[in-house]
Amino acid sequence: MRLIPYRFVGESLPCNLCGERARHVVGRVDRSWLPLRNVLCDVCGLVFLDPMPTSEEIARYYRNEYRERYHGSGAPRPKAILRDERGAVERMRLLAPWLTPGSRVLDVGAGTGAFVAAAARAGLNAVGVEPHQGFAAHAQRHYGAAIHATLLEDAPLEDASFDLVTSSHVFEHLRDPLAAFARVHRLLVAGGIFHVAVPDISNPDRTPIARWHFGHVHGFTRRSLMMMALKAGFAPEAFDDGTPTLVLRKLDQALPWFVFPHHARDMRQFFDRHTMWRHLLSATPYRKFVRRMARFRRERAALKH
Ligand SMILES: [Zn+2]
Repeated sequence: MRLIPYRFVGESLPCNLCGERARHVVGRVDRSWLPLRNVLCDVCGLVFLDPMPTSEEIARYYRNEYRERYHGSGAPRPKAILRDERGAVERMRLLAPWLTPGSRVLDVGAGTGAFVAAAARAGLNAVGVEPHQGFAAHAQRHYGAAIHATLLEDAPLEDASFDLVTSSHVFEHLRDPLAAFARVHRLLVAGGIFHVAVPDISNPDRTPIARWHFGHVHGFTRRSLMMMALKAGFAPEAFDDGTPTLVLRKLDQALPWFVFPHHARDMRQFFDRHTMWRHLLSATPYRKFVRRMARFRRERAALKH
């Protein structure tokens, strides 16, 4: 656990989704009780860090974090590998309706490489982008996965060269997720598919301060993610009701995007209601503890085999 406050200056940015500056503070400390200011956009309801750390400050944070947690090796832990492999099977099942043998697939934030490996085994033409050097090296060594060990914006990929792009729990880490949506749009062929999943900032089961994390510079709901997708020129193809997991289709022209005008108001109500005291007085934390213990036992058993 970290005890030293994050040293960063950052900069105050306009909202990445709507471009406005009106905002309210919704989080003042992170999950380790360290000062970290999260705001809610008054216009569209997007949540983000304000000040927003610079790219260099984010890179420095990860370098320090990984050094602390992994003693410099940077290789993924067995538990991370196990979770990624299970997630890859689920993701392949979810995306099957949009895939045919030979489909060109890109995984943005490929992590341990489990999805790229599963896609390649299924006869797809799969590559990944993963900026974390330790994870990228694992993906290449362990699975022989084709990985660009870099950020999406620096990856040498050609426009209109993918049938499907997928990204799981990556966009909340990006300073400019709208620009990343635009890059994915350019990378896809006409009518191509983009699957994007992020954590839900309005998940009522979460401990209120556990929402806030230095690495999560943006907080999405299904509705704010949907509006960003529309603005970037995508249309919903399918979505998991309630959670911010969308399957999108690339359009030639963007549709009107401000389709949830009450989202900011609803989010303010949500943050007003879900305070730490109310959370501790509800049954949620105790139910969650039981679930977490069950998962811990399952994973330990699986790693023994
Ligand atoms: Zn906004």
